[in-house]
Amino acid sequence: MTNVPQQNGSAPPTVTVGRLPDLPVCGGPATLIVEMFADPARGVLRGSVSVCTGDEAYVMAALADAAIPAEVHAVAGIARCGDGRDHLADARLTGPVITDGAGQPAGVRIARAAMAREITRRSYAIDGRPALPAPSEIRFPGRAVNDLVAIIGLDTIEQAQAWAAAIGAARGASVRDTVGRTGNPERVYCAWALWRGWSVMVTATEPGDGARVPAEPAPAPMPAGAVVR
Ligand SMILES: [Zn+2]
Repeated sequence: MTNVPQQNGSAPPTVTVGRLPDLPVCGGPATLIVEMFADPARGVLRGSVSVCTGDEAYVMAALADAAIPAEVHAVAGIARCGDGRDHLADARLTGPVITDGAGQPAGVRIARAAMAREITRRSYAIDGRPALPAPSEIRFPGRAVNDLVAIIGLDTIEQAQAWAAAIGAARGASVRDTVGRTGNPERVYCAWALWRGWSVMVTATEPGDGARVPAEPAPAPMPAGAVVR
């Protein structure tokens, strides 16, 4: 055991020797490092693991569950989520390996999938936090790897306001009365926030001034055996 710093003077602290728990890491770009300690006083570094912002809370929860004291710090570079070192076991930790097999830059897929997962998680009640309304639509209009823009569409303005309040967008919110595609008045809610490193727009459209927007004619069901030309 060469990597464990020893404390000077006082008696050696209690050292945890159990296995590290399986950590919920994704192998994507990570900008945080979680330092794990072997003793409650955090005097002996047990190891460290890089994590992305999307997995931070879950990694910390997994470590807390396993009674492993931990601290999270921002790091300057970008590492892979899940890579690190377990000093006590003298073992390398590796995040899942991601290969570029979908004809789309891996960075785009990882970033969008992580954001979609984060939005999904917020639609459940987790850790005593109330569930947010499930979006009717999630869009990523950005073209380049660095265009981190997400649009979260909700069914009603009230639902959109709940999301805006949760991600810190409520202050810049706007409500506009306009005329929609059908020629009927519409009320459009829109709010922006910087959330988890993304520009996130929360939006909802309702019939304006209480007027109901007539439903567009629904396509007739295809009769059985019909031939599509
Ligand atoms: Zn991750």
